[in-house]
Amino acid sequence: MIESLHAVPDAIIECDVLIIGAGAAGITLASLLDDGHRDVVLAEGGGMAVDATAQSLFKSVQQRGTPFAAQEGRYRVFGGTTVAWTGRCAELDPIDFAERAWIPGSGWPITHAELAAFYPQAMRLCGFADGWEGVPTAADNDIPAELERFVWRFWHDGGGRYQNFGERFAADFRRSLRLRVLLDANLTRIEPAADRTDAHLRTADGARRTVRARQIVLCCGGIENARLLLNLAEDSPNLLAGVAPVIGRYFMQHPRAATARFALDRSQSKRLQRMFNRFRRAKGLEYEAGLSLSAATQARHGLANASAVFRYARRGWGLDSLIDVAAHPGDGLISGLRRLRGREPLLGPVTASLVVDLEQAPDFDSRITLARRRDSLGLRHAAIDWRVGAIEQRTSRFLTAAVHYWLRAGGLARPLALPGLESSGALEAGGMFESYHHLGATRMATSPRNGVVDTDLRIHGTQGLYVCGGSVMPTGGHVNPTLTIVALAARLAKHLGQS
Ligand SMILES: Cc1cc2nc3c(=O)[nH]c(=O)nc-3n(C[C@H](O)[C@H](O)[C@H](O)COP(=O)(O)OP(=O)(O)OC[C@H]3O[C@@H](n4cnc5c(N)ncnc54)[C@H](O)[C@@H]3O)c2cc1C
Repeated sequence: MIESLHAVPDAIIECDVLIIGAGAAGITLASLLDDGHRDVVLAEGGGMAVDATAQSLFKSVQQRGTPFAAQEGRYRVFGGTTVAWTGRCAELDPIDFAERAWIPGSGWPITHAELAAFYPQAMRLCGFADGWEGVPTAADNDIPAELERFVWRFWHDGGGRYQNFGERFAADFRRSLRLRVLLDANLTRIEPAADRTDAHLRTADGARRTVRARQIVLCCGGIENARLLLNLAEDSPNLLAGVAPVIGRYFMQHPRAATARFALDRSQSKRLQRMFNRFRRAKGLEYEAGLSLSAATQARHGLANASAVFRYARRGWGLDSLIDVAAHPGDGLISGLRRLRGREPLLGPVTASLVVDLEQAPDFDSRITLARRRDSLGLRHAAIDWRVGAIEQRTSRFLTAAVHYWLRAGGLARPLALPGLESSGALEAGGMFESYHHLGATRMATSPRNGVVDTDLRIHGTQGLYVCGGSVMPTGGHVNPTLTIVALAARLAKHLGQS
């Protein structure tokens, strides 16, 4: 059943599991726990469509440190941020889980294998209907030893879109007998009540209801999970006393920047685009091939994990381009047809930008705290101090240099600009692209001194309070996080189903 909180009678709603937030994490959990064995409530702050009132709750964020668009890239609606994501999926690498001496604070308290067991389920939940494999392999013998070919997958529904979790699961949830979805239902307070916990929900116009649950899971996104917990800790100091000092700490993203630009003539363009491109199809499995730093290179040079892709653009309308266009009048049509068949488009002379995605080293001082001002629900706004550190800059420089030397030595391209070789590795405030990947601020750790949740994603020192999402990731590798978020939710569903 899906209904607005406005339509719910004013009496305590009892359930076994209450999930707060209907994004990729919350919807995954709800769908897996809805197996007829328990009563589940999924409370979502937004409605079925994006609207300005709900979105306004994300607008006021105070910022220090490296600026980024914290008011953008979050959606308060059934489906969460998957209403706008671009569907790029990849698994974390085994090295991302390892404690690395050169990255203080690295190391997950669960192994790669423990999470990898849930990736196949996560792939299906992210829409990969026909499986994950089936992308052609390219000859890698050209690539320098420091680098590896890395592939991201996308599942494209044919409507120009990637899976919106809300659209995919709404019909199932409407039919469900033991799963109740409450829309316009914002969590504002939590209060322990004997062996259960009361969650206070309210609508934007002030209607209030209480849900009493055995277990509560926050799935509100990478920034909101921390902001909510900070507000809850202030409201009920005893509830989260054990973890209060670490809530909001170690906030990370994936710093992303264009670190080099190269000019490619017709034959260089063909060669590079065959190896590294976004191979699109009209519908179904797409993939993007790029480069990543090998684990051995990271260890040898003390670097973070990182990857890079080339983004191609037809060269401007200079004399050489005009001559090329005149000499190849059918190019546009041929490129379009090749793209439709999932082949690399051959555009003639192009400019290739190298775009890097970097893992961040966890930094205690990169953090989310609370601003003084309150939103319309009475919760204090987030204040975010995001820090980009020296290891990320060094990694960006190393990766840019490795690609640059390889392209130059192989006669594959002519460099036009190399900002990634400068001291900041092109990771300057205002110069980075938004990744909208909010990670780490309620991280997983075996001890409450180092993290907010334990290996079962239960908040240390609480009975039935859990968190799921990018915020529980102790480090984030270089890949887009949603596949891993869904795998974490599937793992949590198994745990909750057994407890
Ligand atoms: C433009 C764009 C492109 C992206 N592309 C990719 C990509 O290609 N690949 C990838 O892996 N990731 C991508 N991402 C990131 C991806 O969308 C997120 O990682 C993912 O959606 C996070 O899922 P989540 O469930 O943790 O959080 P969200 O999807 O943000 O869901 C959180 C939910 O909680 C609700 N909520 C918040 N506070 C409350 C409250 N107090 N009470 C009740 N409900 C609440 C929100 O309304 C929301 O529905 C992209 C993001 C953007 C913006």
